[in-house]
Amino acid sequence: MEAFGAVVAGSGRPPTVADALRVLAAVPVAADGPGMVDQLRQFEDVKALVAARQAEVTVAFDLQQRREQAAAGVPAGEQGTGVAAQVALARRESPARGGRLLGLAKALTGMPRTYAAFRSGQLNEWRTTLIVKETACLSVEDRAAVDEELAADTGTFDGAGDRAIISAVKAAAYRKDPRSVAKRASHAVNERTVSLRPAPDTMARLTALLPVAQGVAVYAALTKEADRLRAVGDGRGKGQIMADTLVERATGVKGGVSRIEVQLVMTDRTLLQGDSEPARLTGYGTVPAAWARKVTIDGLARSKEELTVWVRRLYTAPATGDLVAMDSRARLFPHGLRRFIQVRDNVCRTPYCDAPIRHDDHIIPWRKDGPTSAGNGQGLCEACNHTKETPGWSAKPVPVPGTRHTVLLRTPTGHAYASTAPALPGTSLAGTKGWAGTEARKTPPPSTVTPPVDLPGVRRRAGPGPGRDAASRNSPVRNSIQVLGRAGPAGQYRWFQP
Ligand SMILES: [Zn+2]
Repeated sequence: MEAFGAVVAGSGRPPTVADALRVLAAVPVAADGPGMVDQLRQFEDVKALVAARQAEVTVAFDLQQRREQAAAGVPAGEQGTGVAAQVALARRESPARGGRLLGLAKALTGMPRTYAAFRSGQLNEWRTTLIVKETACLSVEDRAAVDEELAADTGTFDGAGDRAIISAVKAAAYRKDPRSVAKRASHAVNERTVSLRPAPDTMARLTALLPVAQGVAVYAALTKEADRLRAVGDGRGKGQIMADTLVERATGVKGGVSRIEVQLVMTDRTLLQGDSEPARLTGYGTVPAAWARKVTIDGLARSKEELTVWVRRLYTAPATGDLVAMDSRARLFPHGLRRFIQVRDNVCRTPYCDAPIRHDDHIIPWRKDGPTSAGNGQGLCEACNHTKETPGWSAKPVPVPGTRHTVLLRTPTGHAYASTAPALPGTSLAGTKGWAGTEARKTPPPSTVTPPVDLPGVRRRAGPGPGRDAASRNSPVRNSIQVLGRAGPAGQYRWFQP
C-alpha cells in the first residue's frame, strides 16, 4: 500500500479509486485460518472506509450542485433539488434511500468523532446511520455535544450491538435536550402509515404504523369480533377471523377483493393450457401459475356475488417481449393507455426505484411536443416525477433493437441511465431496469398468435385486440392476458379491450 501515499509510485499522479480497486482485487485469500480471519476484519474496515469516503464525496457533490444551481438562478429554497436522486442513481439505490444517504453524509459533517469512528471501521455504515438518526431531532450544537460525549472514535462502542448503540445515543440526546426528544415523540404521529410487503407463499404483510391508542383499539376490535364469532361456533382460528375481519372492514366487502381491482398478468398458455410460466400480480410481484389460475376460476365461481373477472388480451412482440403500442392525440393519458403503461412498467421506471406508479408521465413533455403515446409514456412515482422536472434533468424514449421499451434518463452531470420495461410473464428477463449500454441479445423464435379459447361462461368481445396497428397485425404477436377481478354487473368472464 506504499503506492497509495500522495501520489501513485512512479507516475507522479494522485491515486484514483480504480487504482485502489485493482490493488484490492489482486489481494490473494490468506493461506491459513488466522490470516483469513484477519482478512475478514480488514475487508470490513475497507468497506467502512469506502462508505465514509462516499459520505465525504456526497457532501462535496451537494455543495457543488448547489453552487451550480445558484449560478443558474435557482431560488435559494429550491437549491439542492435532485441531489439525492443523483446520489441514488450513482449508488444503485432507490431515490428514498438516496435521500437518507445524503442526510447521513451532511449530518456527519457536524459529528467529527462519529465520522472518525466510521472512517476507521469502528462503526459501519448502518451503525453510523443509527447514531445520526437518534440525534436527528437535536440542534446542530446539541448534536455536536452528543458526538463529543459519545466519543465513538475512542472505542466507546467496541463490542456494542445495534440496540446498545441506540440506547446509549438516546440517553445522551435526552440529557442534552429533553424537550426536543419529547417533541419528536409528539411529531411521530405524523409518520402514521400503512404499507404492504410481499411475504412467501403468495402471502403479503400489511403493516400499519399507528399512534399507540389507535393501534390497540384496532387490535382489540378484531379480537372482540373473533371471540364473538368463535363463541357462536365459527370454526376458523382466532387469527384467521381477525385477518378476515380486517380485510372485510377495510374493503367494505365480504371476502375483500371484489370492489378493488386486482390486476393479474399472465400468458394465455398459463390461463388456458396449464402452462407453468408464473404470472405477475400488479403491486405484489411474481405469483405461481396454478395460484393465478385458481384466483381466476374462483372469480368465476363467485360471479353471483357481483364479482366479474375481466380478461384483457395484451400482445407482446415475440422477439423482445415489448407490449404492442397504442397512441392517442389527447394530452391526458386516456384510461386504456394509462392501464397499458401501468401493466408494462409495473413500478416506477426510475432505475432502482420500486415505488408504486402514481403519475403517467410524458417522457418528452407535452409542452415540448411530446406525444401522448405508449412510446412516450412512462409510469413514475411522485418523487421521481418531481425530480425529472428539475433543471438539468432530461429523458427520452430510445429505440434499442432487440429489447423492450427503453427510456434514457440524463442527470445534470451528464450521466445517462437506461430503464428498460420489466419482463412480462412469458418473456425473457434480459434488459430490465437499470441496464445501461447495448449488448447483443438472442432473439427467441417468433411464436404465433394462439387463437383465443373459450372458457366456460366466458363471453368474448368482438373486434381486434387492443392497440394493434397495421405493423403489428402483420407480425406474429404473443398473447398475454391480464385478468382483472373487479366489481361489475353480475356476469361472467369477458374479453375486454382498453
Ligand atoms: Zn420513483
